[in-house]
Amino acid sequence: MEHALDNGDEVPIVYIAKYKEFAIKVLDGGSSYIVLKFCPWCGHILPRSQRKKL
Ligand SMILES: [Zn+2]
Repeated sequence: MEHALDNGDEVPIVYIAKYKEFAIKVLDGGSSYIVLKFCPWCGHILPRSQRKKL
């Protein structure tokens, strides 16, 4: 996923360290996002979200 993050603002991908999630920002002017389970570029499985453990 690092290849996506390197593009900075051009690709609306964010990494939420708190939950260890990769997500796509919803460009509605708000702060919502959609959590990714697979890398949209490589198709590899991303690390599982830690959200449920918190
Ligand atoms: Zn990738």
